[in-house]
Amino acid sequence: MPHRPITVSGVEVTPLCDAVGPMGAAIRRPLAEMFPGSGLQDEQWVLHFHCYLIRDAAGRLTLVDTGIGGADSPAASWAPVPGTLAGELAAAGVAPAEIGTVVLTHLHSDHASGVVTDGRPAFENARYVLQQAELDAARGPVLDRLVTPIKGQLHAVDGDAEVSPGVHVRLAPGHTPGHQIARVGEVAMTGDLVLHPVQLDDPAIRYVYDDDQETAARTRAEVLSALRAERAILATAHFGEPFLRLQESSRHDV
Ligand SMILES: [Zn+2]
Ligand SMILES: [Zn+2]
Repeated sequence: MPHRPITVSGVEVTPLCDAVGPMGAAIRRPLAEMFPGSGLQDEQWVLHFHCYLIRDAAGRLTLVDTGIGGADSPAASWAPVPGTLAGELAAAGVAPAEIGTVVLTHLHSDHASGVVTDGRPAFENARYVLQQAELDAARGPVLDRLVTPIKGQLHAVDGDAEVSPGVHVRLAPGHTPGHQIARVGEVAMTGDLVLHPVQLDDPAIRYVYDDDQETAARTRAEVLSALRAERAILATAHFGEPFLRLQESSRHDV
């Protein structure tokens, strides 16, 4: 079932839990290797895979990220497929055709695989919003199986943009070249800007699967510091809790 929604500035944000599970053996490593210098003990890391549904006062619907996809998804080698996004949307009372905008934070297979169902666009009436830099970097199965089928519905942006009234995207590169975050009111849907809560206490802690670890660390520090200053609500893809109110100090509420 979807997590409980919150309402900010007259806009409802509902976390949709596409899947919960550990990384598969293809890419799993001890936590201390995934987050070098973190001092994390070697315990199983259970990831949640959250997407976020935004419903504004006029009823317009925006979906942020599309999850891990079906059993044959490009994420199947490492993520707990199939994802349950379709059922989560149905439980929230939404049909795929009602989604007007899909924001993809980036093109990793656990965020973008739900753009298609059986090779066809899963959200037939939506614009799919991506940063141009992310599109430029797309290769292999992600390009062939996810981007090409939605070609006619792509909406590329470059940097900051308002993609639906009150819904903004902002380039936050490093995890991938064109990684972006989405904002609505005081909520920041941050994709893979932060992977593990240990990076809230120390944004300099790197993640081994960030494409450009130095840029990712710099972006993480800058964005988190700005979000802390406004005591924003962080909505991550992979934490257990879908919302977390940032405090001004580096200590956080969980
Ligand atoms: Zn990612
Ligand atoms: Zn991810």
